[in-house]
Amino acid sequence: MSYERARARMIEEQLVGRGIADPRVLAAMARVERHRFVEEALEARAYDDKPLPIGARQTISQPFMVGLMTEALGLRGTERVLEIGTGCGYQTAVLAELVANVFSVERISTLATAARQLLDRLGYYNVAIRVGDGTLGWSDEAPFDAIVVTAGTPQVPRPLITQLADGGRLVFPIGEEELQTLVRIRKEGSRLHEEYFGDCRFVKLVGRYGWER
Ligand code: SAH
Repeated sequence: MSYERARARMIEEQLVGRGIADPRVLAAMARVERHRFVEEALEARAYDDKPLPIGARQTISQPFMVGLMTEALGLRGTERVLEIGTGCGYQTAVLAELVANVFSVERISTLATAARQLLDRLGYYNVAIRVGDGTLGWSDEAPFDAIVVTAGTPQVPRPLITQLADGGRLVFPIGEEELQTLVRIRKEGSRLHEEYFGDCRFVKLVGRYGWER
């Protein structure tokens, strides 16, 4: 099967079939060539319904999880979005298709460098990547209309709430090491509204407001 057909099938079966309905999210994930974000030996599995290793003991998230998180951010096109956990840059590329500016923080420099090079090659010029502890956010570029964390944390990283614009959305997995719940926090004035999107399994968010090393 060609990668294009595999991708179309991924959209239908894994996303539409499980309730991802935002047409812009579906179109973005139809455009981004997921197989480019994994090493050559794993290319043929890039459209499978699962996460895959990307080196440094990290993973590229399952396509459904990327769709679910992206949809939950409620993006219209003009937003400034912060991503914590660049990894291979796949979620970053999906966001870059959808909004004006993407800021992404990754703690492992080899992953950040590889993602930067790939995103440049693919022409995603609206992405800024920084190496560091993403639990601290990116204060120089705040506030953000939306923030997505692609690693699991035992606590809400406070700085991310602070760096959220009024009306902004923060989507992240919270819970134990082996199992988390996907949460969306909406900030409205001084109020925070929480919603839950079910169980998920992510690698650890390691940092000051996440897990200890
Ligand atoms: N969205 C990525 C997911 C990668 S896995 C993808 O689809 O490829 C989660 C990533 O979060 C890992 O690369 C890990 O190194 C990174 N990470 C963990 N703790 C972090 C922190 N405090 N700040 C920034 N990145 C972090």
